Amino acid sequence: MLQPITIIGGNIAGLSAAFYLARQGCPVTVYENKIWDKPCGGAISIEYAHYLMKQLDIDIPTANQFIPPVRFCFTNYRAVETDGMFVIISRSDLQQQLIRRLQKEPNINIRFKRITLKDSALLSGQTILATGFSGFTRQIIEEEWHKREYALALKYRGHCREISQNPAHLMFFDSRLKGYGWVFCGNNCQFNIGIGGLIEKKIIFRKFEEFIKIVNDRFHYDIRPNLSPDIWKIPIMLNNWSTPVSFYKNGIEFIGAGDVLGLAHPVIAAGIEPAWQSGWLLGDSYDRTTHSINTAQYRHLLKKNLQLTSRKPFDILISSMLRMKYFPFKDQLAYALMKIFHQKITDQIKKYPWFAMVHDGIKKTGFKADVS
Ligand SMILES: Cc1cc2nc3c(=O)[nH]c(=O)nc-3n(C[C@H](O)[C@H](O)[C@H](O)COP(=O)(O)OP(=O)(O)OC[C@H]3O[C@@H](n4cnc5c(N)ncnc54)[C@H](O)[C@@H]3O)c2cc1C
Repeated sequence: MLQPITIIGGNIAGLSAAFYLARQGCPVTVYENKIWDKPCGGAISIEYAHYLMKQLDIDIPTANQFIPPVRFCFTNYRAVETDGMFVIISRSDLQQQLIRRLQKEPNINIRFKRITLKDSALLSGQTILATGFSGFTRQIIEEEWHKREYALALKYRGHCREISQNPAHLMFFDSRLKGYGWVFCGNNCQFNIGIGGLIEKKIIFRKFEEFIKIVNDRFHYDIRPNLSPDIWKIPIMLNNWSTPVSFYKNGIEFIGAGDVLGLAHPVIAAGIEPAWQSGWLLGDSYDRTTHSINTAQYRHLLKKNLQLTSRKPFDILISSMLRMKYFPFKDQLAYALMKIFHQKITDQIKKYPWFAMVHDGIKKTGFKADVS
């Protein structure tokens, strides 16, 4: 009988790895610390939502309801409005549904336990590290941890008035944020609001206040947060293909997935789909004959897929500009690009969500969700 491969972290990346490895006939044991409502905007592309619904029988109500348009806003310019491009999900609900679904799979065993370095008896020779931004990740990847950049994000949830009358998600770009602010609306006047990016910690709260003022004054959302939001970090690597995908500790090869490898989008820090994508590619890198993951193949697939999805030349260009010290991101340029190309950008995101093209390095092998 085959020894299961251990997966530490049972959220997006870990559950995706479990699903795709199990489909290749590889037994897995997943360890998850606890289900909690991880702070997250919860925006996923419509195609990915449909994929989860069709392939994994996940219930995503927002995908079947009216999908609000997206207003792209800039400090001194009028908003550019596009068709709806994404739906908002609850992260804890998605995690719970995925776990329930995967528990039915014969090759998947999910256990609730926080793994520490003392638990070496529970780990396999190759262990999947899908622990996101956490102390455990830091212990394993050590110096690579310090090479990451971290997007900071603030998030707040509440109710407001205007969204129910004229629902539109709002994405606000401001060069000083080095990222964006968002208002994602849900049912019954619910919303979640936040700002995130490569912004400095010392100004993030002030920028959040300013963002709320803009949202209320210019767009009449009438948002009155009464709780102070917390700061969260999202690991980001621009040049993922020069970093290792596996890390050795105590004789175990830990293979990273999702946030562990800093896969979130380098501009908007969206990491759900890249995390799912990495789990898929781990499955595609599994070698049945040796019952092991071919890490060279995994790295190769990851590079190809990132180049096709979240690390397209356009994304690299924008994120490089954001990182240049004396070249602040020009709001005018962002506005002009969005105004001229908004239809193209919308079409691209609809056609190729960040994980949609699974690529074997030679030809496209993958999947395009049928959203008809
Ligand atoms: C404020 C904020 C807003 C965001 N908004 C968006 C958005 O709108 N869209 C988007 O696509 N992305 C967004 N992201 C990014 C997204 O949340 C992450 O990129 C994504 O969750 C990465 O998934 P993951 O599975 O790699 O890691 P995680 O989701 O962090 O999962 C790691 C799991 O490992 C478990 N774990 C950790 N240590 C251990 C241990 N020792 N033993 C057992 N289990 C352990 C944790 O409990 C957790 O469940 C946002 C992030 C933040 C912080």
